[in-house]
Amino acid sequence: MSVFRYLKNINKKGIQILLYHRVADVESDPQQLCVSQENFHSQINYIKQHYEILKLSDLKEILITKHIPKNGLIITFDDGYEDNFKNAKPILEEFNVPATFFITSGFIGENKEFYQETLNRIFFLEKRIPLNLTIKIENKTITYENLLNEENRNNAYRNIHFTLRGKNSIVRRKAIKELLKWSKIGDKPDDDYKNLNEAQLKLLSKNHSFEIGAHSVNHIPLSSLSIQEQKEEIFYSKAELEKIIEEKISFFAYPYGTKEDYNEETLKIMSQSDFALSCANYPGIVKSNTNIHEIPRVVVRDINVEKFSKFITNNFHKY
Ligand SMILES: [Zn+2]
Repeated sequence: MSVFRYLKNINKKGIQILLYHRVADVESDPQQLCVSQENFHSQINYIKQHYEILKLSDLKEILITKHIPKNGLIITFDDGYEDNFKNAKPILEEFNVPATFFITSGFIGENKEFYQETLNRIFFLEKRIPLNLTIKIENKTITYENLLNEENRNNAYRNIHFTLRGKNSIVRRKAIKELLKWSKIGDKPDDDYKNLNEAQLKLLSKNHSFEIGAHSVNHIPLSSLSIQEQKEEIFYSKAELEKIIEEKISFFAYPYGTKEDYNEETLKIMSQSDFALSCANYPGIVKSNTNIHEIPRVVVRDINVEKFSKFITNNFHKY
């Protein structure tokens, strides 16, 4: 790299928003949502030393004034797993760094489980499922054979996960119920895969460095819904969370969050709402011209601090 290019790069202005889901050491993580506690600790330690860590609420002001700092970072979490409270919170507090937690309101509570976690229990944590599966999802019947074979099991998991991703909660629940019956495993979530309960969410929101945002009610791609259904997912989750934390919710993160998971209607709803900012889920750096309702974020995987430092630097250069 030439000296000039190097100088240009270090002067680049922008804010990088990190997207985490879970901080946990678990047996099975097929969606790669977990960062181990050890890696998370060293990642936060690293960014605390090398970057300016901002709050998401600072970003609104920054985008209005267009005074974009160099190398700013913001930490966000999606979904609302219990480990955000049990494992991430103590580490964030140890380094005194702010973070925003986007919570799926329909899944708050001890005994609620995201459908991908039920699938994870059935296909990966449970060792004794029946050999063959025939399942009907809407009008399509699919058969999966010889599920003792690891590759077949993986394929069945991925195929059903993908099929249910774009379905509404009625179709999802029906399929999950059928699968639980077929596998003969109970509907109680595994301790390592639980969601936040109301008390934990309240405690999380009490720390003034932490901000709570909404992440819909049922975690369905908004683009697959009618305008009315989109509004319900967005505003019911906001209202439900405001009732629990007794504070105004000003941020939203689109479920799944890729450009295919929301649409023009979603952006129109958000721009007419009192949400200050909405986060998406595709890589990028926030710059002065970033749309406040399409904030890019980079997903952090379970990587050690050497890889993590390169990942952060590369993102600032690449986008
Ligand atoms: Zn999510």
